[in-house]
Order: sequence, then C-alpha cells, then structure tokens
Amino acid sequence: SVPAAILSALSAAARGGVLFKGGAALETLARVSSFAFDKTGTLTTGRQEVVGLHCEGDEAGFLARLAGLEAHSEHPIADAIRRLAETRQIRPAEVREARAVPGEGMVGVDDEGMIWAGNARLAARMGARGIEEETQALLAALHAPPQTLVLLGRGARILGAVMVEDRLRETSRPALDALRAAGVTHLAMLTGDRRAVAERIAADLGLPSAAIHADLRPEDKVRIVAGMAARGRVAFVGDGVNDAAALARADVGIAMGAAGSEVALQAADVALLSEDIRRLAAAHALARRTARIIR
Ligand code: ADP
Ligand code: MG
Repeated sequence: SVPAAILSALSAAARGGVLFKGGAALETLARVSSFAFDKTGTLTTGRQEVVGLHCEGDEAGFLARLAGLEAHSEHPIADAIRRLAETRQIRPAEVREARAVPGEGMVGVDDEGMIWAGNARLAARMGARGIEEETQALLAALHAPPQTLVLLGRGARILGAVMVEDRLRETSRPALDALRAAGVTHLAMLTGDRRAVAERIAADLGLPSAAIHADLRPEDKVRIVAGMAARGRVAFVGDGVNDAAALARADVGIAMGAAGSEVALQAADVALLSEDIRRLAAAHALARRTARIIR
C-alpha cells in the first residue's frame, strides 16, 4: 500500500496544480538532481508576436501564403502568424497536403506548387543555398535583435521572412532560483530555436552558455536528456508535441498541462496545470520533504 505521507503529499501537490500520475513519480522527483527545460511555451509564454516582416514584392500576397500554410499548424508561432494576417484582414491562401516537420516548420502545396515555412534547418533541407548570408541580410533588413526567424520558401527560393518574439514567463526566473536554492545542481534549456535567441532568454534566467542547447531536433532533446541522466536523475519539463520523446526518456517527465499538447501530457509522469512554474519548484521541495519522512 502507498504510505499515508505520500498520499497526503500527492493531494497537497494536486491542490497546488501539480498532478502526479502516481506515488513513484513523487518519490523519483525527490531524487532529481537536474532539470532540463524546453524553452518555447515552457520557460516562455509561447504567446508569440510577429515583430517584423520582410519580403520581396507584395506583402499581402506573402502573408496570405504564409498564413495559409500555418493555418495547418498548432505551433505557437503559427498562431502569431495567423493573428497578424487577421489583423491586416488578409485571407489565408488555400494550402493542401500541409504537414509539420517536427522542430523545423511546415510544408504544403499551394496554387503554385510546394511551399515551406520554418527555420534555417528546414531551408537547408529544401536546398536553399547561401542560407546563412540570406538570413543575415534578412536580419539586417529587419533591424532585429536575436529573435526567431520564420522563412517562407518555394523550393530553393526564399520568398521572405517574419520575426517572432516570445516573452519569458515572469515566474521562470524565481522558479529556477528556487530550484538552485534547493540544491539542484544542473539546470538546462533545450530548444529547437536558434542559439542567439536561446542565449538572450537564458541571460534573463541566469543560465550560463554551457546550459543552453539550441538548434535541437526532437531526437536531439532525447539525446541530451539521456546524457544528463548519466549523471543522476533528471526531470524534463516541456509543453509540445515535439517534447513527447524527451518527456518519456526523463526519469520524471513534466508536461505543461494548461497550454500543453495532449501528446505531451500522455508521455509525462507529472502534469503542471498552472502556468506558474514556481509550483513545480514547490512540488520538488514537497517531494523531498516527503521522502525524508518515509525513509
Ligand atoms: P522549442 O523547442 O523552442 O519549443 P520547437 O521544437 O517547437 O521549439 O520548434 C523549433 C523551431 O522550429 C522553432 O523555433 C521554429 O524555428 C521552427 N518551427 C517549428 N514549428 C514551426 C511552424 N509551425 N512554423 C514556423 N516555424 C516552426
Ligand atoms: Mg515548446
């Protein structure tokens, strides 16, 4: 039978919006010495805004195609792009056969053929050459600090780009500070986003360069969690479809429940129903106190 101390800790945690799938997850969390966090939608709000747009020629036509493709995506970036099109009263173009390329973007077919939208890795996959220079030129054109760049392309040709910006959750820094104070030795940020963007966010969190893992595909997140697991028990906190494998690989997988995807919730051992990730630090402290009682 489950010790009374664990049952009462599970219900106390649940009242704080942290749902454990069982007593074992609580006991494992007490032993966790490192935490890996997904960036977008976990440490940041995931509510992105388009802050810049650059294309050759007609902006409305460009945005219609981009929004038409992103209409098929659940990613927070897609949301931001659809909202911009709506604000400008631009009707999204018809896009068929749309599918997600995990950690990279979207591909689909419009009236002129195949189009894609996503990051530099997707662009490279599509054979867009000189992508580094093109991206740098776009960034310069947008006068942008490090932000997430979404490129729209057809085959090897880049049609334009938008910059999206995401804000840090106000509770992220205090949550990480609480975990540090509790003696968690390793904190890391894992993201599919560009390194420069990750560095800017990490600076506000007091995370050193070495703790940032950027430009990751979903399978890279799994590999990094596995590497951390070799040094002690590891928790991974994520929200997205792309995080499911890393959530499953971690000793304790923690899904952002309120805004997170169904797939992430299924793969996780713990669901954080609140967007306030300080609740997670509190649950970790509670797990440790409970472990001391029952030992
Ligand atoms: P994170 O690990 O930060 O949560 P994801 O793994 O979800 O990010 O995505 C990684 C990167 O892939 C994003 O930063 C973005 O550049 C690109 N991307 C993913 N989905 C889309 C999309 N629907 N439209 C454009 N770009 C996308
Ligand atoms: Mg995410």
